[in-house]
Amino acid sequence: MTKNKKTLTDISELGEFGLIDRLTSKFKSRNEKTIMGIGDDAAIIDTGGLYTIITKDIFSEGVHFDITYAPLKHLGYKVVTANLSDIYAMNGTPTHIFAGIGVSSRYSLEALEEIYKGIKLACEKYELDLGGGDTIASKAGLFISITALGSVAPDMVTYRNGAKEHDLICVSGNLGGAYAGLLILEREKQVFKANPDMQPSLKDYSYVLERQLKPEARKDIIELLKERNIKPSSMIDISDGLASEVIHICKNSECGASVYEEKLPLDKMTADVAHEFKIDPSTFALNGGEDYELLFTINQKDYEKIKDQQEISIIGHITNKSEGTKLITVSGNVAELRAQGWDAFREKKNK
Ligand code: ADP
Ligand code: MG
Repeated sequence: MTKNKKTLTDISELGEFGLIDRLTSKFKSRNEKTIMGIGDDAAIIDTGGLYTIITKDIFSEGVHFDITYAPLKHLGYKVVTANLSDIYAMNGTPTHIFAGIGVSSRYSLEALEEIYKGIKLACEKYELDLGGGDTIASKAGLFISITALGSVAPDMVTYRNGAKEHDLICVSGNLGGAYAGLLILEREKQVFKANPDMQPSLKDYSYVLERQLKPEARKDIIELLKERNIKPSSMIDISDGLASEVIHICKNSECGASVYEEKLPLDKMTADVAHEFKIDPSTFALNGGEDYELLFTINQKDYEKIKDQQEISIIGHITNKSEGTKLITVSGNVAELRAQGWDAFREKKNK
């Protein structure tokens, strides 16, 4: 009989953000050069002159990608762009990446070279140097971890905590496309598993498939904001769904938000896929993950500077904290904005 048996906590009870908080909350910053540590899209370090930005993401086989349908070259490209998105979210310019891979013997040299072709393509497109990395053996499939570095002028950094009441809430591009692509790929995979003679019918879905398999980071938006002399009051990238990111901004900025459902930017193909799956397209936009668009807030005085921009939608405004985070539905109802999204650990548990 074991005495003093400790009850162990299931990590699914905490969710991803709760877990990060539990693990890291006792760490205090000891270095005065640390301008921003844990809690934003990337850390900011004062290295003299420009600030240095650092961020890291890990992708694991079977959780973040499925090699039965993710072309390896695209996968290499995506692990880089997903990281760059966090550098852009700090209003920075990425400069270097470090790539860590864990590989099982199932993978051939040629397969790994395909991944590196994708990484190289991203380095060329986004003008990055591959500064190094690490390579280990894995017994449980493929892991890829990218650390990205960038730089930003000290007065140009955009944190999650700068949103102010009456600021306009803006989002780049369109939302929910990557999730639409994922649903199509999963459906076709099941069809193929049931009958390997069936060819997947993917050709009508190319845009959303690309959103899922080979996303871009919004370098162009950061450049446009700079050109137009706009410094967002806060910014975050949309990796876990719009609702989750609006809530992050509001929590960090101690404010509320009103988001208008009718303003959510949706591509027609995304809406068509949502209808095919009998899901409300707004749910895709609010809770679909991996769009890698930018969510930011601007002062109302900057409205004139972006109002003609096709690639930027104004979806609502920042309110007082007491008003909470609200979704104004198309029919005019006011609903609580909920991050049902992408909580990796909870999702696993529900399967
Ligand atoms: P993002 O979705 O923008 O990549 P995350 O939600 O993954 O951000 O992380 C939020 C914050 O928590 C970031 O500052 C990140 O560096 C930090 N973080 C995440 N996981 C860990 C960990 N295991 N140890 C320390 N910090 C972590
Ligand atoms: Mg982020």
